[in-house]
Amino acid sequence: MDNNSSSTLAENDKLLYKLVIQFLIFSQGSHKALEPHLLQIGKCLKSGASLNELTRELQAISKTLLHISKQTQQEVRIDEADNTEVVQSDYLLSRLDELLTDPLVPLRLHQQTALLKQRTRTGFNGESYKKIIDSAIALLLNIKDYANAEQQGLDVFLTGMTQELNQIERQAEMAGQANQLSIDNRDSLNTAIHRQVANIRDSTRNAQELSVLKDHTSEHLDRLMQQLIEHKQQEDERQQQTQEQIEVMTRKLQDLETETETLRTKLKIEHDRALRDSLTGLPNRPAYNARVEMEFARWNRYRAPLALAIWDIDYFKRINDTYGHKAGDKTLALVGQLLLTNCRETDFVARYGGEEFVMLIPNTGAAQALLMAENIREVVRNCGFNFNGEDINLTLCCGISEFREGDQHDDVFVRADQALYQCKQLGRNRCAVFDDDSSQD
Ligand code: GH3
Ligand code: MG
Ligand code: MG
Repeated sequence: MDNNSSSTLAENDKLLYKLVIQFLIFSQGSHKALEPHLLQIGKCLKSGASLNELTRELQAISKTLLHISKQTQQEVRIDEADNTEVVQSDYLLSRLDELLTDPLVPLRLHQQTALLKQRTRTGFNGESYKKIIDSAIALLLNIKDYANAEQQGLDVFLTGMTQELNQIERQAEMAGQANQLSIDNRDSLNTAIHRQVANIRDSTRNAQELSVLKDHTSEHLDRLMQQLIEHKQQEDERQQQTQEQIEVMTRKLQDLETETETLRTKLKIEHDRALRDSLTGLPNRPAYNARVEMEFARWNRYRAPLALAIWDIDYFKRINDTYGHKAGDKTLALVGQLLLTNCRETDFVARYGGEEFVMLIPNTGAAQALLMAENIREVVRNCGFNFNGEDINLTLCCGISEFREGDQHDDVFVRADQALYQCKQLGRNRCAVFDDDSSQD
């Protein structure tokens, strides 16, 4: 080798060293596989290694670089292929996510949806991609069929439920109308029913699935039923209380009625006693006073003739004196009975006082009354009255008058009394109608 060629070689060595150093700097940290080589070359350079040693290291690094290059190319190819699938997978996933959002997917298809989403994220190749698309379509069709079936079921269910609720509300209203006292109870029941119905409506709106809705609804209906049962129990208890109260009141009322009846009977007895003469059993003077008012009013109204007769036992004092007071009493009772049994039922006979009797004779004028009085007088005279076997002469006098225009009921009494007085004056055992002419005497 000549000088020129050796200097050229030296120049080449320098250039090589320079390139190696630049490569070292450039490649620092670029690839892990290069690091040991770069370290070794650095050592060679520092220790002034021969070109041969450097060349071995450079050959080694060349091999590593070739290997790295091949690997990178392979990775790029894989990356490109992967990228296409990832893009497709992401797109499919986002589309599926949109379509398969939880609120739209029925509960029972949630797991199937989750599995499909999982498959889009893993194990993706040309074959599974197709399968995933098919599965996704099948799933969406399932969701659609399920939604249709759900809607139909929901319609039927809601129609049935609405009818049930209407019936319950009607029954509750009817139960409430049954009794005024249950108004409060009915109001609170109505409120409870409305609240439950509102809850059911809310559940209906918010429910995503018929089975969930059915659960909610049956829960509300259970509560509703419970409230109706409680309401009925309260009503039954209240009704029983009312029934018991009614029974107590009925018993009290019956007692009261019995008491009232007893009192009424007593009062009637008292009243009758007050208006009846105990000795003769005939109405007494107060009874006469009441009766004459009534007959006088009737006479004033209809103007039918009305006669009044006053009876007096002749020499009664003598009977008393001769036979005793008891005989006198017996005489009074007998005369009373004879007067009563010998006049008409419509006539009124009373013991006016002492041994005097008074008789009101409706629809009868004075003349006719006189005929009747004469008949009675005869009956008494011939009655065969005796006391302890001893015949007693028993006669009566009777003064008669009839009601006249302008009379007060006292006026006719006074006139009849005057006629009676005349009978006594004329010798007793006689009857007389008041005579205006003779009264003036
Ligand atoms: P006259 O013929 O004028 O009517 O005479 P009289 O004796 O019937 O009448 P008088 O007025 O003089 O006597 C009535 C008597 O009647 C007097 C009284 O003692 C008696 N007397 C009145 N009430 C009763 C009574 O309830 N029982 C008895 N036993 N006697 C009575
Ligand atoms: Mg008298
Ligand atoms: Mg007398």
